[in-house]
Amino acid sequence: MPKKLEGKIALVTGGSRGIGAAIAKSLAADGASVAITYAKDSGSASAVVKAIEGNGGKAIAIQADSIDAAAITDAVTKAAETLGGLDILVNNAGTAIPKAFEEATLEELDRVLDINVRGVFIATQAALKHIKEGGRIIMIGSCVGERMMTPGLAAYAATKGAVKMFSQGLSREVGGRGITVNTVQPGPIDTDLNPASGDWAVPQKALTALNRFGTVNEVAALVAFLAGPEAAYITGANMTIDGGTNA
Ligand code: NDP
Repeated sequence: MPKKLEGKIALVTGGSRGIGAAIAKSLAADGASVAITYAKDSGSASAVVKAIEGNGGKAIAIQADSIDAAAITDAVTKAAETLGGLDILVNNAGTAIPKAFEEATLEELDRVLDINVRGVFIATQAALKHIKEGGRIIMIGSCVGERMMTPGLAAYAATKGAVKMFSQGLSREVGGRGITVNTVQPGPIDTDLNPASGDWAVPQKALTALNRFGTVNEVAALVAFLAGPEAAYITGANMTIDGGTNA
């Protein structure tokens, strides 16, 4: 029996570690050929490619910092040319610089905006040159794109709110071509960006209904569902996966 993403080609930005790496592996396990981008850590990127290949899948890693417009468009072109097209884009690359808003420098504000919003616009525009009927665009937003429970993340939350509305708006533009656009909004997920141990983790865990951090595989499973054929009628939706943080 063919796997549900057999013959599909996916690009996951920021796919070398954390949530993006789990998404890349999950889409590959469902049969997709997968390209990942990364900014700096080529070792982690090749480990993801090797893990996918070790399971009989096909993957490539492309160095492309999401702050660099030309690098992003080149990465989309390279992914499509090398793998033979593009069906699924997962805009996962993102960053946070937690601090009081009044203390953030212009450079820090620009960095968060450029990676989390501008990079998503650029990757999506480039990908839409290739994505056809049945295509999927999935944003990794955040539960703080809808509700806010802690200080220190005002600018980050604004970028994730922007991603959510971009996704809803775009769903209206590409729906006629059979392309769906959705946002997955994680709560606290144990990664290098947001480790489940340490002072910063304690209040986040306490704010969940389930009293724990989520895992990267739990987020990847939702993304794989949205990428698959069963999710064909879901578009313009924001799916929060946050252990009840926003309940
Ligand atoms: P990590 O920092 O653990 O991993 C980030 C990944 O993205 C790495 O592969 C990294 O590659 C890559 N990356 C980072 N910066 C860039 C860049 N400028 N250009 C291209 N790739 C880049 O992050 P998470 O897995 O935790 O987060 C992934 C996404 O999920 C982000 O959008 C984040 O905002 C969102 N999210 C995370 C939550 C959490 O609790 N972890 C909660 C809600 C949302 P490299 O090593 O080369 O830099």
